[in-house]
Amino acid sequence: MYNYPHKLLKLINEVSKLPGVGPKMAERIGLHIIKKDKNENEYIDNFASVLQESKELTFCRECFNVSDFEICPICADKERDGQIMCVVESAEEVITVERTGKFKGYYHVLQGLINPLNNMLPDNLRIKEMLERIKSRGGAIKEIILAINHSVEGDATSLYISAMAKDLGYEMKISRLAKGLPTGSDIRYADEITLGQAIVERKEI
Ligand SMILES: [Zn+2]
Repeated sequence: MYNYPHKLLKLINEVSKLPGVGPKMAERIGLHIIKKDKNENEYIDNFASVLQESKELTFCRECFNVSDFEICPICADKERDGQIMCVVESAEEVITVERTGKFKGYYHVLQGLINPLNNMLPDNLRIKEMLERIKSRGGAIKEIILAINHSVEGDATSLYISAMAKDLGYEMKISRLAKGLPTGSDIRYADEITLGQAIVERKEI
């Protein structure tokens, strides 16, 4: 049976490892990448160099957001409100919350949610670092907003974080995004107005 050349199969195989890309789509993308036009290999060269450069990206050593630098521009911005910290699942939510324009504090990126079925336990997340950050500020942080999805994993993570943060013994409000976000919906896909409203109307937990 005829199949694609080995080098193309290898390319399709790599593409198929991307999230949300099924086998057919991987073939289409693979064929698209090698399609020659008047720019010859310019597209592949650019793609390869962008991929190489992405290795230089790192995670902010304060908030664990994806960053060009050791300290991300948000953490480096001294104009922001140091009394309030917004805890999110991933770098995607930082961007989503920033776009609402309703939050002027600092972030902490957990890099996942608690999900024992996927071996995601509290120790695999940046929860320890979050607690250390709060402690290092010695009570200066007055509110933690958990901008975490209303899902089984999101609820488990929020409960755990809230218990651990309360155990630190500081006078600190812990709140979660309010209604407006339909149950089970994903924060990263919420529109700016709905999410902005959910931030404004956050509920203490
Ligand atoms: Zn940062």
